[in-house]
Amino acid sequence: MQTSIIGYPRIGNLRELKFASEKYFRGEVSAEELEKTAKEIRQYNLKIQRESGLDFIPSNDFSFYDGVLDTAFMLGVVPKRYKDLKLSKLDTYFAAARGYQGANGDVKALAMKKWYNTNYHYLVPEFDDDVIVKLEDTKPLDLFGEAKEVGVTTKCVVVGPFSFLKLAKYTGKKTLEDYVDSVADAYIKLIEKYSAIGGEWLQIDEPSLVLDLDAEDIELFEKLYKKILASKASVKVLLQTYFGDVRDCYENIIGLDFDGVGLDFVEGKKSLELVKKHKFPDSKVLFAGVVNGKNIWKNNYQCTLNKLDEIGECAKNVVISTSCSLLHVPCTLKNETKLEENYTRYFAFAEEKLQEIADLKSILGADSRETVSTYIENVELFEKERFVENQEIKARIAALTEEDFVRKPAFDEREKIQKERLGLPVFPTTTIGSFPQTKDVKAKRTALRKGEISLEDYEGFVKHKIAECVKIQEDIGLDVLVHGEFERNDMVEYFGEQLQGYVFTEKAWVQSYGTRCVKPPIVWGDVSRKDAMTVKWSSYAQRLTDKPMKGMLTGPVTILNWSFPREDISLKESAFQIACAIREEVLDLEAAGISIIQVDEAALREKLPLRKSDWNEDYLDWAIPAFRYVHTGVKPETQIHTHMCYSEFADIIGAIDDMDADVITFEASRSDLSILEVLKASNFRTEVGPGVYDIHSPRIPSKDEILEAVDKMRENVETSKLWLNPDCGLKTRGYEETIPSLKNMVLAAKEVRADI
Ligand code: GLN
Ligand code: ZN
Repeated sequence: MQTSIIGYPRIGNLRELKFASEKYFRGEVSAEELEKTAKEIRQYNLKIQRESGLDFIPSNDFSFYDGVLDTAFMLGVVPKRYKDLKLSKLDTYFAAARGYQGANGDVKALAMKKWYNTNYHYLVPEFDDDVIVKLEDTKPLDLFGEAKEVGVTTKCVVVGPFSFLKLAKYTGKKTLEDYVDSVADAYIKLIEKYSAIGGEWLQIDEPSLVLDLDAEDIELFEKLYKKILASKASVKVLLQTYFGDVRDCYENIIGLDFDGVGLDFVEGKKSLELVKKHKFPDSKVLFAGVVNGKNIWKNNYQCTLNKLDEIGECAKNVVISTSCSLLHVPCTLKNETKLEENYTRYFAFAEEKLQEIADLKSILGADSRETVSTYIENVELFEKERFVENQEIKARIAALTEEDFVRKPAFDEREKIQKERLGLPVFPTTTIGSFPQTKDVKAKRTALRKGEISLEDYEGFVKHKIAECVKIQEDIGLDVLVHGEFERNDMVEYFGEQLQGYVFTEKAWVQSYGTRCVKPPIVWGDVSRKDAMTVKWSSYAQRLTDKPMKGMLTGPVTILNWSFPREDISLKESAFQIACAIREEVLDLEAAGISIIQVDEAALREKLPLRKSDWNEDYLDWAIPAFRYVHTGVKPETQIHTHMCYSEFADIIGAIDDMDADVITFEASRSDLSILEVLKASNFRTEVGPGVYDIHSPRIPSKDEILEAVDKMRENVETSKLWLNPDCGLKTRGYEETIPSLKNMVLAAKEVRADI
């Protein structure tokens, strides 16, 4: 049986691409130097994939920022405002990714959204009426050629036209339908050129096929591919899906002239049922996603081989593949020097997954599984007890009753009590929590980790930073302050490191967007809190000011969603365990005199099933209660905030209100505050701070721009319920832009207040 993967991480084992790109942004290295680093990463990836014996090695899975953005540039879908900057190709690309403010102009970045149910984020392609779609950029071909030069004939990977058109937004008069033909033509051109340079297999990714599709969607899909496949000539086209099953269009897919179809047998609940019901055609190759591309746990060979046996009964030509791109897992276990073998033997990152795929292939090639040592060892591993249970926490969760999930008194009554206690002006101004994590902060943390400074020195430094941050906020004139989160590397890892039941890694980075990577901790066993985690810092900060200092926590759903979860117990069980720990922390903060506590649920939507029919039962029915449990124990006068990031809230707005927080701040600026109408329509009860400017971009918003946002806000939401804040934490920003931006925000607040 042959083997394949859908894509490989491109950040480099030690995040080389991130560092090179950031140097490039700061003008410290040239475009050539950046390109050199990129090439080294690609060549290394090729090398290890080749050495592992992988049959189908992907190319063009590399990207300087994001694969959807690459596709937009490939198709010429570049809004005029970026072209008008008259920058180099690479800089135009980065302007669309990050925004641009400089000698050539001042433009915002494209919107950014969560990539399906992952913590990866893509840039939303934008069709303005000036766009003329045609094959404009040949990166896929160039990278195929680059691999070929070193002797590897790869399977070139591109984002498909259906998903691309569905993910894009249309800002002019033209709509999706106006672009169907020209987009199909561009893919035909690509295939033609690919064939001319010796391309054999082309992988076209269509993750949008796993969403709920209606008749119109299916018609669009068929229209595109009938046209494209009619011109594919000798190129073999693999339609690759992932993140779920294709229940709405499986029959349409197998009815089309694809040479290969990639299905996800890990997250695709119905994939097996589909191929069983309608035998997979002998004329096509089934790329069976059986090795999980999202988890970090070793593959259970016995289960996978049994699954492959079942798949084999319904399909003649099967290739072993991953369930999705390995982009969503860290690169390699090799750099984990501190994790004991006791743990690591249960883990497989991208590089180790290549080995697993090779193992599966060789086990399948043997006369009998039972004689292969890799198989025997794997079976033994899964039979071993891991000793991860905590009976006390298990009992506590078992004893929860409905009342534990209801906060008293009701919202309106609390709102009154809190307004009285806090005495804030209308349009209270605040920030989301973190302040710039400048070089000195990171250097101190590294020094502490390396043992170069004492814990006392480190904590002294953090205190100094907090004091500085409080002073800055008071000078700017913000109403509700934060301590700045300087003691935190990451909003999830920081808690993971202090909770029992977690293990954390040193170098296991995963790309979140562009140059931003996260290092999710691993839920290893039952979770519980040892000691207070944040009280010391929050109460220190509160002592420095008369203004309210927000306590800052990460919520249970986000902690879980941004961790690598266990697979031996349910997500619900793990979420409730974490909720118990965060609840204890909330109560400790309250007891320490903190009047406002923010519990971030940045990633609430992240694991929301992609299909609506699964939302409640599989997710919201436990995720919302997990959040509620965190704050049902506080007094009425304690104000609970929550915060959410880049995602579409509209369709779960009811569930969000149902979290029963007192205030919610969220990302809105990058999606043009379109959420406001939804708030109005749903009679949203929770007070809101729809972020008034985009913190993912270094540009400084003007006061007038913020006032415009405020106007829009007031049109839709009662003034007494509105807050003013940036759309997310400021840690990736510098002070150069942070201070003037916040000053403009406060100026805007003053102006509206005077107006009222
Ligand atoms: N409190 C966090 C911060 O400001 C929230 C980050 C986030 O939402 N991603 O950094
Ligand atoms: Zn955020």
